[in-house]
Amino acid sequence: MSLRIGYGYDVHQLAEGEDLVIGGLTVPHEKGSVGHSDADVLLHVICDALLGALALGDIGTHFPDTDMAFKGIDSKVLLKRTWDLVQSHGWTLSNMDTTVCLQRPKLKPHIPQMRKCIAEVMEVEMGRIGIKATTTEKLGFVGTEEGVSAHAVVLLEPLASTSA
Ligand code: MG
Repeated sequence: MSLRIGYGYDVHQLAEGEDLVIGGLTVPHEKGSVGHSDADVLLHVICDALLGALALGDIGTHFPDTDMAFKGIDSKVLLKRTWDLVQSHGWTLSNMDTTVCLQRPKLKPHIPQMRKCIAEVMEVEMGRIGIKATTTEKLGFVGTEEGVSAHAVVLLEPLASTSA
């Protein structure tokens, strides 16, 4: 069976007066992520990994940050459109694994809701969605709370193989 793997990496600056949107949820915190869209670093790396798996470019190719249509947009809309594109090419999700790097606040209590949110947008089982969180031990831009980063890998399998 042929499989496709994809990888995504993204960074957003943190600033006061912004919402901290991660995995489709707004996480209560005194700082939030800065970006053209809602700056959801986790959904962005998932989009990039999905696109990368099929060599379809990246999130900036499909949703340019120069386009006012995407100003402040809910990244769940970007994920849904990206996922529709992947499925239209004949592929579905085997699984994904992701890590969010954030010094504060602790994300662990929010991870079940993030997994549920992503599973609902993509209409796949929660068991296929892995989310982990780590600090960077106060090192680097994550550790100094200047930014948030995330990594994702996805594995795609042919659509037909799941219905067979
Ligand atoms: Mg981004």
